[in-house]
Amino acid sequence: MTELLYPVPAQAKQNSHLTPELYEEMYQESINDPDTFWQKQSSILNWAHQPTKIKNTSYDKNNVDIRWFEDGELNVSYNCIDRHLKTQAQQTAIIWEGDDPSKDKHISYQELHDQVCQLANGLKKLGVSKGDRVAIYMPMVAEAAYAMLACARIGAVHSIIFAGFSPNAIADRINNCEAKVLITADEGRRGGKTVPLKSNVDQALTGNRCKTIERTIVLRNTGSDINWHSQDVCWQELIQDCTSICEPEIMQAEDPLFILYTSGSTGVPKGVVHTSGGYLVYAAMTHKYVFDYQPNEIYWCAADVGWITGHSYMVYGPLANGATTLLFEGIPNYPDINRVAQIVDKHQVNILYTAPTVIRSLMAHGTKPIQDTERTSLRQLGSVGEPINPEAWHWYYEVMGNKNCTIVDTWWQTETGGIMMTPLPSVTELKPGAASKPFFGIQPALLNQDGEELSDEAEGNLVIKASWPGQARTIYADHSRFIDTYFSAYENVYFTGDGCRRDQDDYYWITGRVDDVLNVSGHRLGTAEIESCLVAHPAIAEAAVVGFPHDIKGQGIYVFVTPIDGQVTNSELTKQINTWVRQEISPIATPDLIQWTQALPKTRSGKIMRRILRKIAANEHEQLGDISTLAEPSSVQTLIAGRLNKA
Ligand code: ATP
Ligand code: MG
Repeated sequence: MTELLYPVPAQAKQNSHLTPELYEEMYQESINDPDTFWQKQSSILNWAHQPTKIKNTSYDKNNVDIRWFEDGELNVSYNCIDRHLKTQAQQTAIIWEGDDPSKDKHISYQELHDQVCQLANGLKKLGVSKGDRVAIYMPMVAEAAYAMLACARIGAVHSIIFAGFSPNAIADRINNCEAKVLITADEGRRGGKTVPLKSNVDQALTGNRCKTIERTIVLRNTGSDINWHSQDVCWQELIQDCTSICEPEIMQAEDPLFILYTSGSTGVPKGVVHTSGGYLVYAAMTHKYVFDYQPNEIYWCAADVGWITGHSYMVYGPLANGATTLLFEGIPNYPDINRVAQIVDKHQVNILYTAPTVIRSLMAHGTKPIQDTERTSLRQLGSVGEPINPEAWHWYYEVMGNKNCTIVDTWWQTETGGIMMTPLPSVTELKPGAASKPFFGIQPALLNQDGEELSDEAEGNLVIKASWPGQARTIYADHSRFIDTYFSAYENVYFTGDGCRRDQDDYYWITGRVDDVLNVSGHRLGTAEIESCLVAHPAIAEAAVVGFPHDIKGQGIYVFVTPIDGQVTNSELTKQINTWVRQEISPIATPDLIQWTQALPKTRSGKIMRRILRKIAANEHEQLGDISTLAEPSSVQTLIAGRLNKA
């Protein structure tokens, strides 16, 4: 695996929030004296009542209890909007870029305030109050952000359901969190296609399936004909006579802000609960330092609002910092493969934050994705969601970033609320593919199977030894599942479920999920390393590696690969790839079986679902488990049909 070091570029040091010395000093304080450190950092927000109790957390599995800033009081929407009005009311808060490239909108902080207050008053009119749950099933329009902030304003708890989900998935989530109101739109637009949101909602609610829903607010978005039912109320009509004044509800720091269901790469979705004070402190701080955000910069997080990245780094973090955040309705390759780069040029984006799956899908087209664009506004690039293969890192760095930008490869989870490990632009020398170093307050450790902590250079299960403010507090209505999942494998630490390696320079490398680790003839192999090696081969676009039962080795290596555009696949190429892995990594890592496919099964957020591939490889496709979060369930049948080793 490449460990090339890229020095911190001179431009990244100018005006930056941090220097290497300051990072070190702050990091030490955050670990040695968390109370003092976080008390100081809490001033990144405006509190109605300043917290005096800072950290009160227990990882004891008989009593997992996590509280931060517990006597503090604040309102999240006030912090994301009102406090900026004095000096930047006319500054753009949200740039909305439509699926159709001719459509866009700039929403100022003042306008955001007015829209959010009107909807908040509308929600009140429907009887929504503090603590009630509101489900949001919206396309990527500015109103999705208004809906989140309107809930926060009145103390309602939102739960966003990704707009790609099916009626069953919607119903399951609504019922789990017992939402009182559902906010949706007639239709959404994505990649030139319409998404029938209201019709999906009708199916989800049919036959009294979701008993807790009293009203459904429907935004007229495309304006097309939909069925209206007695419980439906049109968003535009609802807010017509609502004023744009709505006093923010003062909330306790530990009052819940939202519930979000994880993407489901590893099983039945969990309703992760985040609270108000700690979450917002952490989202704002990480956004400020990890992207080294400077006033007036244009910041684009190309995630969907339905994922945690959309919550923390498209809405809450940037708005808390008074940033201009870009919200893109469409997909990276519509209408053209260079859409991402076009948007960067059009809005003069300074910071771009996206996922390896997007980078790999663009990379498969060489330099076409940057055709006729300059991207000179870009200063900073970010990646999140999966390990970024060095090959994809280099493409991102050289092609998209013109070799001018630093890349922050940010490792974190829905459950962590914000970024946990990452390079920092003005501080960290870059190693392509490494999540690098812990953020303030984060104490990573590597444990072996027996729970013993490994020192120095090592590879093991990644745990976090102490709480941080952005940490999830529970799984909604199932605290025991929260404890089982994160606090029972090992004593007194948070178990991430990810494998990780620490190198000689104390850089951390995520090796993949612990469940995905292979054991081949007694050798433990991470999926990330083999996949990176495969993707580095010029014929391969994407790769997924899983284990399957093997009489001699215990586990064999089963590889699923998609070819680069236009590549002809044959047995000669398959042989070449075998040799390639053998040479690049080791004979132990040589694939036993290589199956070519046009598509891999992915979650809606673009992550490969190895859980399903494992079942296919093991010929257990009768028991695929929950596939409700798959982007294209049909890809599974094709994979099963093409399965190798049919004997
Ligand atoms: P579920 O928990 O429901 O199975 P999920 O883990 O995919 O779904 P997320 O919380 O969105 O849901 O993703 C977090 C996981 O994504 C991490 O645990 C890690 O495996 C992976 N990940 C995220 N960012 C990175 C990164 N920069 N490098 C490596 N892996 C990453
Ligand atoms: Mg997870």
